[in-house]
Amino acid sequence: MDCIFCKIISGSIPSNKVYEDEQILAFHDINPQAPVHVIVIPKQHIQSADEVNEFNSPIVAKIFEAIPKIAKQCNLENGYRIITNIGNDGCQSVSHMHFHLLGGKKLPESIV
Ligand code: AMP
Ligand code: ZN
Repeated sequence: MDCIFCKIISGSIPSNKVYEDEQILAFHDINPQAPVHVIVIPKQHIQSADEVNEFNSPIVAKIFEAIPKIAKQCNLENGYRIITNIGNDGCQSVSHMHFHLLGGKKLPESIV
């Protein structure tokens, strides 16, 4: 499958890893939109959050268990934002479900 994030998981594309366990990988975004911008992904290929269902939803819980650990590791004690883009209107550019973890400064109020 021609999926950049699956290639990062397999190691064929390098990444700057922040966190990894059996099911989850987190790495620094190549084009950061904030002082801390980490991408959190399941190792299982799920196209987007719109593909979450009763069978694969436990991985979403696992991701949200990992996020506070990653945030702590990145010194985001003042808070942060989690965003997941879906499809064309959501401006999703990589079709492997991912959660942007953004922080390290006061984020703009303009989007949510
Ligand atoms: P989205 O637009 O929500 O699909 O987000 C995709 C994100 O992946 C963007 O913020 C990109 O900068 C990031 N990205 C794309 N390729 C890489 C890569 N090779 N390593 C790290 N981040 C990447
Ligand atoms: Zn993938």
